[in-house]
Amino acid sequence: MGNPDSPSIDDLSGQPRPQGAGFEPGPYEYAVHTPFAPTVTLPKWPQNKKAALVLRFDDGTPGQAQLGIPALSRRKLTGTWYINPGRDIYPPNRSLWETAPSLNQELANHTMNHREVSGEELMQKEVEDAAREIWRIRGHAFNGSLMSFCLSTESVWPWTSTLKDQILGSLSNVDHQAYPGLTYAGYVNYSVPTGANSDMMYAIVPRIIESGNWGRVSFHGITAVAGASDWGVGAVHIDELNQFLDKVLAVTGDVWVAGQIQLYKYMQEQQRSTVTITDAYSDRVAFNLNASLSTLYDEPLALVVGLPAFWARCQVEQGSRVVVYDVRADHTALVYAVPNQGEIVVTQAQAAAQ
Ligand SMILES: [Zn+2]
Repeated sequence: MGNPDSPSIDDLSGQPRPQGAGFEPGPYEYAVHTPFAPTVTLPKWPQNKKAALVLRFDDGTPGQAQLGIPALSRRKLTGTWYINPGRDIYPPNRSLWETAPSLNQELANHTMNHREVSGEELMQKEVEDAAREIWRIRGHAFNGSLMSFCLSTESVWPWTSTLKDQILGSLSNVDHQAYPGLTYAGYVNYSVPTGANSDMMYAIVPRIIESGNWGRVSFHGITAVAGASDWGVGAVHIDELNQFLDKVLAVTGDVWVAGQIQLYKYMQEQQRSTVTITDAYSDRVAFNLNASLSTLYDEPLALVVGLPAFWARCQVEQGSRVVVYDVRADHTALVYAVPNQGEIVVTQAQAAAQ
C-alpha cells in the first residue's frame, strides 16, 4: 500500500503518477474542479430490459377483480384493467377495484357502461364518467393523470376520428392503439382465447423479447371453475393464468412488465426528450432533460450517465428528490429522472447506494 494521498496511478488519466518527489500529498486530485465531458443517453427501456410487455384485461369482470388482481399483485406484476364502472357487475367488486392503484395495478377506461351510444354529448359522458371514477380511485384531480382508453369492440360508436380525438383529448385519455410519433414495428399482440392454457398465453413472450420492442397479451374472463365463463365472458382458468404469470416472472430480467399508459408515457418521453449539459466538471455534472410534453408525462426515465472514472457512486438530485446510485464498471450509472422537472445535478456520493 502506498501513500493513500499519493496513489501510484492517476485516477483520471490512468497514467503512473510521480511518487515521492515534487508531489504535494493530498487532497486527492479528483477533489479538484477540472473539466469533464459527461455523456447522457436515453436507453429504449428502463432497468436494463430488452423489451416491454403489457398484460391487459378487458371488461372488469368479477374473475379479474377477485382472482386476477391478486394473482398479478402477489407477483408484483402490473396489469392494465379496462373497467366499466357503470355496469351492474361493478358495485359488488368496487372495493376490490379501489385497491388496484395501491397494488401497482393500472386502471383504464373501457367506457362507463359498455354500450352503444350516439350523439356527441352521450359519447363524451360515457368516456368522462368512467374517467372521473378512475381519477377518484387514483386520488387524482379531474384531468390529473393520463389514462388508457379502449372502446369496447361490441359497441361501435358513430364518432369521427376528429370527434374521438377531441373527446379523449379533453379527458387526458389516450386510445390504446394510438402511438403517434412512435415506431413499433415489432409490436405484437396475442388475444387469449377462451380456455387457453399457459403455454398458449406465453408463446408470444419470447418473440416480444426477441423483437426488442413491446407487445401485449390480452385477456378477458378469469374463472376458478373448469370450463365456466366469467359473468358470461369467455374465460381462462386461474391455474393456467398463475402458471403463465410464473413464466413471465422468470423472464422479468429481460422484459419490463408495464401498464399501458405507463408504457405510453415512457415511450413518449424517451423519444421526445433532449438533454442539455449545464455543468461539466470532474466533481459535478448537471443537465436539463426537456420534452415537449405536459407535466402529466411523469414516468421516471432511465438515463445512462458517463461519469469520471474514479467515481464509485453518484448522487442524483432533481428538485426535492435525491437518490444515490452505483457507478458501473464501465464508468456509467443508470439513473432516473423526470422530464421538465428541473435541472438534474450529479455529484460524487460517499453514502452507500440505496
Ligand atoms: Zn369489452
